[in-house]
Parts: sequence; structure tokens; C-alpha cells
Amino acid sequence: MSTQVVVLGSGYAGTGAIQRLESELGGEAEITWVSEHDYHLVLHEVHRCISTPSVESKVAIPIDEVKSSSTEFVESRVTGVDVDERTVELDDGGSIDYDYLLVAVGSATAFYGIDGLEEHSLELKGLDDAREIHERVADAAEGATSSEPAVAVVGGAGLSGIQTAGEIAEYRDEHDAPVEIVLVEGLDQVLPNNDPELQGALRRRLEDRGIEIKCGEFVSKVDEETIYVGGGEEEAPEELAYDVFVWTGGITGQEEIADCDLDKDERSNRIHAESDFQTSDDRVFALGDTALVEQGPDAIAPPTAQAAWQAADVAGENVARAIRGQPLKTWTHDDKGTVVSVGEDAVAHGVDGIPINVFGGRPARMLKKAIAARWIADVASFSRAIDAWGDM
Ligand SMILES: Cc1cc2nc3c(=O)[nH]c(=O)nc-3n(C[C@H](O)[C@H](O)[C@H](O)COP(=O)(O)OP(=O)(O)OC[C@H]3O[C@@H](n4cnc5c(N)ncnc54)[C@H](O)[C@@H]3O)c2cc1C
Repeated sequence: MSTQVVVLGSGYAGTGAIQRLESELGGEAEITWVSEHDYHLVLHEVHRCISTPSVESKVAIPIDEVKSSSTEFVESRVTGVDVDERTVELDDGGSIDYDYLLVAVGSATAFYGIDGLEEHSLELKGLDDAREIHERVADAAEGATSSEPAVAVVGGAGLSGIQTAGEIAEYRDEHDAPVEIVLVEGLDQVLPNNDPELQGALRRRLEDRGIEIKCGEFVSKVDEETIYVGGGEEEAPEELAYDVFVWTGGITGQEEIADCDLDKDERSNRIHAESDFQTSDDRVFALGDTALVEQGPDAIAPPTAQAAWQAADVAGENVARAIRGQPLKTWTHDDKGTVVSVGEDAVAHGVDGIPINVFGGRPARMLKKAIAARWIADVASFSRAIDAWGDM
């Protein structure tokens, strides 16, 4: 029987790795690809579906357009991995054996045990979530007036929070909907731990879109009607009444891999991987948001689409190398810059080959579109990328 390679997840990491494996192995091993969805989701543009649900067809690419016919695809939710038996367990009770496993199941939203947060907030990790945010904002706006607007609060001002707030503003303006938007961030600035010039440019654009920003206090509790921000023994928290609350304040590992016997971060359950993507089990590789991929002492790769996409190419090649008994390649993340949308507007920072630190306007908007279009062309086809261009 030929070598069995199993890849879990159809995000950037899984999809990129599948394509590299297919070109590397060319029949040398059997490839099985498992994901809960039969499409590859361009997750870094999924927020577009909040303002415009029809964008769904542009960002969800059917798996058959992505993989070669020789790769077997199994649409199923993974419920566990047994590294001793070398099997992947599925939610229908079945299992798949592997010789080499590549884990790329992304991340889950982190709620940090904050009282009421998980129960009362919406998250944004996929198409269903974007649909639900759209519907909840539309419903809240319908029952509101300009003198008593609905309140949509976004918790967390990272890449997903900023872009979510921007799309709610886009919806509000397109539909003339009476919605107030508040962006709450526990740290001192939007897009924390980033370039101050980029933070300033984003803040200006968010405020220009009428988004109120509250930085410097963490959400401490949530109930059905109110978000409590900050507060302590001697100080009462600020109370924010809300109609819709979207929480994007952090990521953690997927619970389905929490019990598998691999070295993981105790708090988040994200899998420790070397810079060649090998885990504590030499038959298992991990990458993308699922993993903490080492990048030198005390450094790990960032949880971004850009990093997952770059990593996938080397991880796919390394699985092929492991099969052949060849030395593995190490990977170093190459930050090619950041482009963040605020509705139709965008801000770019540190872009490779451009000698301006931060820029916005048409060049940044075009760059944001080009990044999404290039990924879609790479994984699927040029015609699909052209079709998606107007919506990115
Ligand atoms: C709204 C938003 C905006 C973002 N914007 C940017 C941006 O502008 N730039 C950027 O670089 N990054 C951005 N990111 C982050 C980026 O999308 C992630 O870092 C990236 O998707 C990680 O890729 P991945 O392949 O590891 O995981 P994912 O893309 O999340 O893929 C995980 C895959 O695993 C599947 N899966 C999960 N659990 C299971 C299971 N138990 N069984 C089977 N299948 C499973 C999922 O369905 C999915 O196919 C954004 C994220 C969000 C949510």
C-alpha cells in the first residue's frame, strides 16, 4: 500500500499545502483532504459578506476547483487525532489512517472566560457567522429610528474587528440604516502592537466613518442588554447598551485537537511546531493559525493569512521530503506588509517595494483587491479572480 498523506482543513494553510503536495508527490503517495466544508474560504475577505451577502459566492471556492482529481476529499468534521494509532477521528464515527498528517484546522475565537461573553456575542470565523451578523444588524436597524438608533458593538480592534466595524458602517450607509457603531479595544490603540502611523491612519478612517472608538479598557462582563467595560474594586465599569455584539478579541486552538498527544501551548492548545512545521511527533506537521510555528528564540509566526499562505508551500514540500527521507527545509516568515480595509477604504503599511511607510486612498484599495485576486487566481483560476475583483 502506498504512503497515506492526510491534510486537515481547507483554509490558506491546508489548501496551499494540498497544492504543493500534489505537485511534489505526483502519484508517489495517496493524498486525503478532510475539511468540514467542501469549499476553500477566502477568510480574510469574509467581512465583505456582512455588508453584501452575495459576496459569498466570490469568497467560497468549491473544493473541486482547487484540488486535483487524484486527491480524495472527505467533507467531515474532525473530532480527534490519535497519534499512537495514526488515525484521524471523524464526527460520523469513521476514521482515516495516515502515515503523515498535516494539521491546518485554523483557530477558534477566544472568550477568556469573561462572564457572559461567549453566550451573548456573535463571532466571525466563517460564512454562517457573516450571514448572522448581517441579519442581526439588519433586524436591529429595522426596529430603530434616527433618534433612537440601534447599537452595534465590535469587541477587539485587530484585523478582523476593524474590518468588521468597517463593513457594518458600509451596510449602514448603503441602507441609510439608523445604527451606531462602537469599536472596543482593551489595549491602548487600534491594531495593537503595530506601527503608530498605521494605527493613526486606521483610527482616522474609522472615525471618519462615524465609528466610535473606545480603547484602553477590557470587556469585563456581558449580559443580554449590556456590555460592561473596565471597572474594578473601587470603580464601576462603563455600561454599554447594545443590540448586536460581535466579538473578535482573540484566537485560541480548536477544541477537537485539545486532547491529541502533541506538545501544545497549555492555555490555548495551539500546537508547537518547529520552523520546518514538524511537531513533537515526527509524523505530524502543523501550520497556520492551528500552530505556534517557531521563528527563532521567543518568536512565533503571526496568525495571518499571509503567513499561512507562505508556510503552506514549504510545509507541503517538507511532507514530501519526509516521505523520501530527505532533510526538511526551515521557513522564515517574510512580512510583505499589511493592508486593512475600513469599508470601501483601505490603509496599507510596510508594503514590499514601496518606499512609503503608510498610505491609503486608491493605491491601498487597489492593493487590497489585488491581494485577494492573486490568491483566488493562485488557488483556483484567473477567471474566478476577475469575477471577484469588484467585490473585494
Ligand atoms: C474577518 C477576518 C479578517 C481577516 N483579515 C486578515 C487580513 O486582512 N490579512 C491577513 O493576513 N489575515 C487576516 N485574517 C486572518 C486570517 O484569515 C487567518 O490567519 C487565516 O485564515 C489562517 O489560515 P488557516 O488556514 O490557518 O486557517 P483557516 O483559514 O481558518 O482555515 C481552517 C480550515 O479548517 C477547517 N476546520 C476547522 N476545524 C475543523 C474540524 N474540526 N474539522 C474539519 N475541518 C475543520 C475550517 O473549515 C477551514 O477550512 C482575518 C481573519 C478574519 C476572521
